Amino acid sequence: MRQGILFVVSGPAGSGKGTVVEALCKAHSDVGLSVSMTTRQPRATDAEGVTYYFTTRDDFENRIKNGEFLEYNIFDGNNEYYGTPKFSVEKSLSEGKDIILEIEVNGAMNVKKQFPNAVAIMLTPPNGEILKSRLRGRGSEDEHEIAERLETAKKELALFPKYDYLVVNEEGKVDECAELIYSIIRAERQRIIYTKPIIDNFNL
Ligand code: 5GP
Repeated sequence: MRQGILFVVSGPAGSGKGTVVEALCKAHSDVGLSVSMTTRQPRATDAEGVTYYFTTRDDFENRIKNGEFLEYNIFDGNNEYYGTPKFSVEKSLSEGKDIILEIEVNGAMNVKKQFPNAVAIMLTPPNGEILKSRLRGRGSEDEHEIAERLETAKKELALFPKYDYLVVNEEGKVDECAELIYSIIRAERQRIIYTKPIIDNFNL
């Protein structure tokens, strides 16, 4: 049995990555989602243990000291900690389950360093205007926070050449976008590094 493959999905606030990744995992039970830990306050749409594990800064910093994270970062947009707990990711990979990490760009690059075969996908809105209006439409941040997130979005988008794939999340096409990402997952599974055993076992 092969190890699971790590897929990293990043995208600026307003790219709709949370919605797309949720739709993908709902439609395809062969893809798992890693639940991150964060120190930010829960939003109305969050659920403990589902969207995130929420915790305090003290607890998060203790876990850093204990080496409990595969990667973690203080997110530019709000100065809060976000991290990927090691335990669930390592378990899924060793069980051969492919897993998606929905994380920001610095975290994504850290994962790529540790797992060179990880596949990084950048999700974007169709254009800058739509990005701005999606950010405002969310209503969960004030104008100052929105301006900060826009600055962060600019920096994040500038890193797209470091990614393996770029996917545009068109307006009102969440399921299509999820399916496009799933088609990347299916194609990646056929890479020779994973499928070589098929030929090796021919015993001709
Ligand atoms: P939000 O507060 O909007 O849920 O997330 C803010 C940013 O943190 C997003 O870009 C999201 O992808 C990123 N993020 C979520 N979980 C993690 C994580 O475990 N590690 C890192 N590095 N970033 C994360």
